[in-house]
Order: sequence, then C-alpha cells, then structure tokens
Amino acid sequence: MKEFINPDFLLQTDAAKELYHSHAEKQPVIDYHCHLNPLFIAADRQFDNLGQLWLEGDHYKWRAMRANGIDEKYCTGNETTDWEKFEKWAATVPYTLRNPLYAWTHLELKRVFGIDEILKPSSAKAIYDECTALLHKPDYSARGLMRKFNVETVCTTDDPVDNLEHHLSLKEEGFEIKVLPTWRPDKAMSVEDPLKYKAYIDKLSEASGIKIKSYQNLIEALKNRHDFFAKAGCKLSDHGIEEFYAEDFSEKEISTLFSKVCTGRSLSEEDIRKFKSAMLYELALMDNDKGWTQQFHYGALRNNNSRLLRRLGADTGFDSLGDFTVAKKMSKFLNSLYDNGNLAKTIIYNLNPRDNELVATMAGNFQDGSVAGKIQFGSGWWFLDQETGIINQLNTLSLLGLLSRFVGMLTDSRSFISYPRHEYFRRILCNLIGNDIEAGKIPASEMDIAGKMVEDICYYNAKNYFGF
Ligand SMILES: [Zn+2]
Repeated sequence: MKEFINPDFLLQTDAAKELYHSHAEKQPVIDYHCHLNPLFIAADRQFDNLGQLWLEGDHYKWRAMRANGIDEKYCTGNETTDWEKFEKWAATVPYTLRNPLYAWTHLELKRVFGIDEILKPSSAKAIYDECTALLHKPDYSARGLMRKFNVETVCTTDDPVDNLEHHLSLKEEGFEIKVLPTWRPDKAMSVEDPLKYKAYIDKLSEASGIKIKSYQNLIEALKNRHDFFAKAGCKLSDHGIEEFYAEDFSEKEISTLFSKVCTGRSLSEEDIRKFKSAMLYELALMDNDKGWTQQFHYGALRNNNSRLLRRLGADTGFDSLGDFTVAKKMSKFLNSLYDNGNLAKTIIYNLNPRDNELVATMAGNFQDGSVAGKIQFGSGWWFLDQETGIINQLNTLSLLGLLSRFVGMLTDSRSFISYPRHEYFRRILCNLIGNDIEAGKIPASEMDIAGKMVEDICYYNAKNYFGF
C-alpha cells in the first residue's frame, strides 16, 4: 500500500519519477489565469486564520459542504465565525474522499504549513490553531505565500473600467513577482439587462473620459481602456461566454441595437446574439493589434438556483455544465478573423468534456505557422480541473494536436494557497509520459526530449507564448 502524498505521489513508474523530480518540480509557476484580488497583494494581506483563508470565497468547498448537508450559514453566512465554518469544513473533508478537494486540502496543508496529519473532526482544532499561528507570521502574508510556491507571474482577471491601481503600484514598487491584469470585458457585452448595461456604460464613460452616446463611442472607449491595460502590462484577454457568437451583422444594425438597449428597452434573443457577435469580433481585433492572447472560457450554465442567486449573488457555487452547440459558430468566428489576418493567439477552454475532441481539432484548423501552438486547447477548466479531466485533456491534445506545445496549467483560483494544483497537474503529466516510456510507446533513449517536453509544458511554453 502506498503512503498518501509521499514524494512520488501520483507517479507510478521510474520514468515518471525522473521526469517529475528532475524536470517538473523545480520549474517556477506561471499562473496565467486566476482571480486573486490584486488589493490583497498590494496590501500584502495577512489572513486572520485558516478558516478565513480557505472558506472566504471558495465555492468549490461550499458546494461540497452543501452536498454534505451543512447549513448555508456555515458556507456563506455572516452570523457564523471563521472557526465554526472551518469546523464544518473539517467535518465534511472525510466525505470528500475521491473528490479532488481531498487531495488539494491535504496538499495545501503539507506544502504551505508542513502538516502531514489528515483533516477530520478529531484533528480540526489542532490543525486550525497551528495554521492560524503560522498565518500571523510575516512570511505567510499574501506575498509570502506566493513566494513559497516559486511563483514568477500571475495574471488576475479585471474589468475594463478598473483603474488597475494595485497593479500599477506593485509595478512601481518593483514587487519581484509579476502581477499583470487581464482584460475581461464581459460586462461590455451583457445587454440582457438594459438597466444594468446602461449603468455599466456610464462607468465606462467615466473611466475612459469618452462620453458614450453611440456604438462607435463604445468601441472608442473600449479601445481607450484596452490601451490603458496594455500600458499596465496586460497581455491577455478573457471572455466568459455561454457559447460562441458569430451571427451576421451590419454596423448600422448594431448601432441601432445599442441605442435601443441604452434607452432601457430589452433586446430579443436574436438581437442579443447579434450584438455579442459584433462585440466579440471588435474585441478580437483589439487583442490581435496588441499581440495579446485571447482566452475563451465557454459552456457554463450559470446561476441555476434563483433563490440562492437572489440571496448570495453570482459565483457562489450554483453553476454547472451547459450543452450548447458550438462547433459551427466557433469555426465561423475564428475563420472570420483568420480570413483577414486578424486572428490573435487564442486559448479555448470548454467546460463540457464532450467538447474535448471538438476543440482540439478546431484549434488545428487555424494554426498559421507564425507561433508554435498559436491556437491552444486550454487546460481542464473548473469542473474538469481534476485527475480524470486533466488526463482526458492531455490525452486528447496528445492524440489530435501537439502536447509538446501546450502552455500548461493555471489555477483559476481566488486563493493564495491553491498553487499545489500546479504540482497536481505536473505529477499527472509526468505520470502519463512516464507510463508511455515504461510501456515502450516512447523510446527510453529519448528521455532528454521527454524531459524538455515536461519543462516546456510546466514553464517555458507559457513564458514564450505570452511573452512574459
Ligand atoms: Zn476564471
């Protein structure tokens, strides 16, 4: 029987162990998509206790607790203390066996706090106290935690109206870890709710200094903010979309739709798709002009629970996989850009694993020979960020594209201690390649090539591809 989280955790063969320990383990972390709050880095936040650090914004854990019959007040409630929440989480952990939360929880305890003990009700108090005492030490601040994991670059997720003050102050101060903004213009496309949209347009007017009276002004204002983001070091955009939008449209039509929505009138579903098609296209042109990478996270069905949406707001753990039909529209969108020489470096992340082969083969249609792996099939995202999801993504990419050119893993996390997800990914990657070497599917004589491949996927590909 193997020991839990031993040095060779998840590594089944000698080749896998060599790949991991000689090549993957020592690589710095480039976390090119996450949701860290830049204020916490700028202020070098010190967390009060492990309950706060773990449960303040983690909807993965809240979902598990709810599924375990824990009352909502221990997930998101204001009336319970951090300790009470933690106690309920500790009571849930034994029930998360085989869920990635079980491995992540113990990897985090071990790598961040040096704790080998298993979290359960009987160990909860001692673990809580030990971690909380450490969290009060200076090297366990937000920045200290990032340093522990050899993080080189992180890219946060930011709205075009954001003034990026924390990114700018970190840059000015010369903080050794690069903290770059990511352009996420979802709200500029969200015309479903005219009142909310108009309020957003007012904010965008203010941020850009451009009075937005027309669709033309909207694009000018967005370009203005895009330039501002570029000056602040931004190199990526990100779009959270249900599906790809590639309806035919004329600028006159879109101008009319924009005026309509700004006067508080609702658009039809068809018009909403038309508007989003225009926006997605314009935004893609901006990204290409700057040499950025555009990311598309598509396929989530969000806010399924309306009662808890009203109570808790979005992103609180009530989203799941959608089953949108996307291939034709994805193709049309990418092709319309490629056709005019305007297709930027692109990463596509699907949430429904049904689409793995679809995305991997779609990427192959638009590789233009200018950049290795220009169109990327993104890493296992959200519900697919687990052992099976990661293996399936890696296998699909291997079989239908070039795994060697993959830009690798990201945390997509709000937490300062979720970096062991990179370790988890690296171990799975090394194990897959190691198994192939052991089975004679990859020649053992090419161990140096396999080692370089691992180093590239863990670090160098991302560094070169994004231009960090
Ligand atoms: Zn994300």
